[in-house]
Amino acid sequence: MTDTTTSTANNFIAKIIQEDLAAGRVSSVVTRFPPEPNGYLHVGHAKSICLNFGVAEQFGGACNLRFDDTNPEKESQEYIDAIKDDITWLGFQWAGEIHYASNYFDQLHEWAVHLIKEGNAYVCDLNAEQAREYRGTLTEPGTNSPYRERSIEENLDLFARMKAGEFDEGAKVLRAKIDMASPNMNLRDPIMYRIRKIHHHQTGDKWCIYPNYDFTHGQSDALEGITHSICTLEFEDHRPLYEWFIENLPVPGNPKQYEFGRLNLDYTVTSKRKLKALVDDGVVAGWNDPRMPTIAGMRRRGFTPRSVRNFCDMIGVSRSDGMVDVAMLEHALRDDLNKNAPRAMCVINPLKVVIENLDEDHLEMVSADYHHELDLGSREMPFTREILIDQDDFKEEYSKKFKKKFTPGKRIRLRHSYVIEATSYEKDEQGNVVLVRANLIEGTLGENPADGVNPKGVVHWVSATQCKDIELRLYERLFTTAAPDKCDGDFMDHVNKDSLKIVTAYSEPALGQVAPESNFQFEREGYYVADRYDHSADKPVFNLTIGLREDNSLTQG
Ligand code: ATP
Ligand code: MG
Repeated sequence: MTDTTTSTANNFIAKIIQEDLAAGRVSSVVTRFPPEPNGYLHVGHAKSICLNFGVAEQFGGACNLRFDDTNPEKESQEYIDAIKDDITWLGFQWAGEIHYASNYFDQLHEWAVHLIKEGNAYVCDLNAEQAREYRGTLTEPGTNSPYRERSIEENLDLFARMKAGEFDEGAKVLRAKIDMASPNMNLRDPIMYRIRKIHHHQTGDKWCIYPNYDFTHGQSDALEGITHSICTLEFEDHRPLYEWFIENLPVPGNPKQYEFGRLNLDYTVTSKRKLKALVDDGVVAGWNDPRMPTIAGMRRRGFTPRSVRNFCDMIGVSRSDGMVDVAMLEHALRDDLNKNAPRAMCVINPLKVVIENLDEDHLEMVSADYHHELDLGSREMPFTREILIDQDDFKEEYSKKFKKKFTPGKRIRLRHSYVIEATSYEKDEQGNVVLVRANLIEGTLGENPADGVNPKGVVHWVSATQCKDIELRLYERLFTTAAPDKCDGDFMDHVNKDSLKIVTAYSEPALGQVAPESNFQFEREGYYVADRYDHSADKPVFNLTIGLREDNSLTQG
């Protein structure tokens, strides 16, 4: 089979669906996204969400949201709520009610009893270590459990007593009776039920035996009328077992499992276990820390839903695992923000300029559009005698390399405002320029100077007296190496210790008024977003989303 890496619209899964519809094997498409509520979703899940919801949309079908909640000790309502939030934010809507695998516990239990009655399942008393020995290896067949030939009556009795709580955890399991010599280890009498005396977030204390993933997933698919059960490649070897349960149980549907390659990104870990460790160890401030590759973290960082969906389209869907360059994700983000983010002004390293031919109390409002192409409205900016520009936009001496050419005797255009000409400057004891004196050139608002001496550059600025102090959270990559997962030692050893710097900057006053999660391009500085939780008019807080250009990407570690 050839490997087809194409965009989600006509990837190999979509082709299979198209063929199934054309041949009448299915009359409509139903997919599902089946997260385990044991952590927040990450960028890899976004790929799965875009694929599952995407193909359903493409073929006029439906996509269910089903929580795969068979592992209660690691699961919680917090995760369930966060996952729902993430999917909605990405712009997808699940069909009907939310489903839980735990909704099917009664039915699954009935089907387990059915398999026992058919002689297809048995209660086994081997402990974990013994079971491992009996299981054999990849090159050697396993050995039948000494409990494999228990009578149907004894199995029914023992399974009922397992359910009633008579035995300790680990004392007994229910196994499917398939083939201990199968070359596929998953078919060597796999476990169906374990005893676990724990509270479940959905079913409370009703159960003390829980079905495992393999005994749950395919039957849940069948119960929901799923036609195409799309999962990642690590489940490929589980497919024969998925099919075995479907064939040997009186299930109402005939779902088929298809596998695709999971997303791996460099400079990023995409494993809930490792992300949880970053949270639990306090390396980041939580699952939604803007440095996290979680959907909630990306959202807080300033990613837009469209940028995430575009990225998933760009990387396509293939039958093999691969490593994706994080630059592709950054490109999708920057491209979307470049096209769509409003522009505003913020000075991070300020240098005061006094415009000496203006009155002390000069206050003029200049109006500026938020975007040069899109109609994103406009705002008024106060223009005063004292303004702030970036330190790098003035030099004591003229030089060819210095592009803006703002030096004594030279002119600069203040963005959306007038042309000014530097006259002199002041330095501190260390020799740093701390103040520039300038004159405003009359009649230059939206016009070139009448004397024909045009400025060489345009700089961003804010009023020194009317600006707003804002907190900027400057983020870099969380890891210093491209493959933190695969290096020697612990992935934690490769955490970038300087991935967050907090500075005060000075913005036009309008930025205090914007809603949390508003994206901006701060002109000539980068893309920023008003923090989802901490931003307010009293204390504006913006997160660095990403630098303006690939070569000076501020996220580079
Ligand atoms: P993790 O390995 O990060 O803990 P998981 O596979 O255990 O993730 P689930 O909640 O079981 O997480 O995943 C829900 C769905 O998302 C599954 O169908 C899974 O195959 C898919 N998925 C998980 N990680 C990725 C990934 N990196 N790329 C694509 N799909 C993924
Ligand atoms: Mg999983």
